[in-house]
Amino acid sequence: QEDIFKNVVSHAKEYGFIFPSSEVYDGLSAVYDYAQNGVELKKNIREYWWKSMVQMNENIVGLDAAILMHPTTWKASGHVDAFNDPLIDNKDSKKRYRADVLVEEFAEKINQKAQKEIEKARARFGDAFNEEEFVTTNARVVEYLSKYKEILSRLAKGMTDDLQDVKALIEELEIADPETGSRNWTDVKQFNLMFGTKLGASADSAMDLYLRPETAQGIFVNFLNVQKSGRMKVPFGIAQTGKAFRNEIVARQFIFRMREFEQMEMQFFVRPGEEMKWYHHWKETRLKWHLSLGLGKENYRFHDHEKLAHYANAAADIEFNFPFGFKELEGIHSRTDFDLKAHEQFSGKKLQYFDPELNENYVPYVVETSVGLDRMFLAVFATSLKEETLEDGSTRTVLKLPSVLAPTKAAILPLVKKDGLPDIARTIIEDLKWDFTVAYDEKDAVGRRYRRQDALGTPFCITVDHQTIEDQTVTIRHRDTMKQDRVKISELKDIIENEVST
Ligand code: ATP
Repeated sequence: QEDIFKNVVSHAKEYGFIFPSSEVYDGLSAVYDYAQNGVELKKNIREYWWKSMVQMNENIVGLDAAILMHPTTWKASGHVDAFNDPLIDNKDSKKRYRADVLVEEFAEKINQKAQKEIEKARARFGDAFNEEEFVTTNARVVEYLSKYKEILSRLAKGMTDDLQDVKALIEELEIADPETGSRNWTDVKQFNLMFGTKLGASADSAMDLYLRPETAQGIFVNFLNVQKSGRMKVPFGIAQTGKAFRNEIVARQFIFRMREFEQMEMQFFVRPGEEMKWYHHWKETRLKWHLSLGLGKENYRFHDHEKLAHYANAAADIEFNFPFGFKELEGIHSRTDFDLKAHEQFSGKKLQYFDPELNENYVPYVVETSVGLDRMFLAVFATSLKEETLEDGSTRTVLKLPSVLAPTKAAILPLVKKDGLPDIARTIIEDLKWDFTVAYDEKDAVGRRYRRQDALGTPFCITVDHQTIEDQTVTIRHRDTMKQDRVKISELKDIIENEVST
């Protein structure tokens, strides 16, 4: 599994999907850039989501709220101040941050202990000291270092997502705080997960702002604007995709946990008392959406939350089988009227809806669906990446992306670089590029070009050869089966359309 994950990361880099951010400066921790193919795949996932929400539902409309919001927003939402600590929520995130930080600090302490022993021995033995020998033979140091490595490797695998894991780990490894001997690891610091920034140039008049840690609040504060200007009737939804920022303490799983990431959220406003019906509706609807991508039913499961946040009366995650195990991909939360009421309280403005059928005013309840675009990317990418052994014993690497999401839908390849074949290939591209992202490639033998397109996830390779000059036909090769058909150039558009349309 570790190898699979390594392959995913290196394939993403080698084939222009994802690069570490600012790599020339050795990267920035837990921040990544989407490269030429990654940006297409990501855009296609976003569009696939957007269509299913906004285009397919008459009562869901879109929004693109700013990343910067009035600072009081985050007071109302509970992200600043202790009055309703957002870390104590149904997603157990407080536990998670505690757990991660604990384990990291703990590992560090153990490592320091080992280093101290090494230093002591060095001082004692002087020139005769052989560090390599010492760290492999001194029982105490060996023990410290092996525990240290064990903890780091578990952290890397993301096996410490809650406090239970940490306790189990500590028990299993029978380790106590190297400083105090205590096994009580519950005394933890508070963290502010929001990135702060300033609005205004001069130091004394500048206003403290935050980069939003979730997109949802932009929807809540716009609820009434959208309802009124769109003449929306409850139940209705507002959908949004956009960047969110969290100063995650431990972020080691590639694009699974980033400090700058993108969310795709939909807040659905319903009559109080009807929220459970909609909660179940959206749970099922969202799972169906995931299944429609064909990554395998067995890779998904629900995780219903037993412990709920102060604002929620029901919550579940859709978990996905990532290369490092089942983890949260999407959250579906029944958030009651907590957020709208809090914004009423902090703004002093009414955020109520007049229901013409009931002839009454109320603050709607909210059911939200929230999925990480980057996590979707990782789910799709990792599951699609396959090593196949072919009949002749050779192997190929193929990215079996759902065709609708593939960055490039077809590659047009002249068999040779002469005899007018490149020109014909170019005219095919001129025709297809209005409807699909297509690529041209004439470098290397055609077999190698096929392999390259396989690795990029391109569903079709279209090869122009000498017969094309005679009869206006080309071969079309299917990525997954590697089968080739001879078809007329005029049929190409329909064939591709048929395969890649939603
Ligand atoms: P987790 O427990 O994994 O940190 P969360 O419960 O805090 O996630 P939510 O606040 O519910 O996450 O956010 C909704 C979705 O946003 C998550 O299901 C996930 O897909 C995505 N997400 C949250 N934090 C990150 C992150 N740091 N990097 C990438 N995606 C994220």
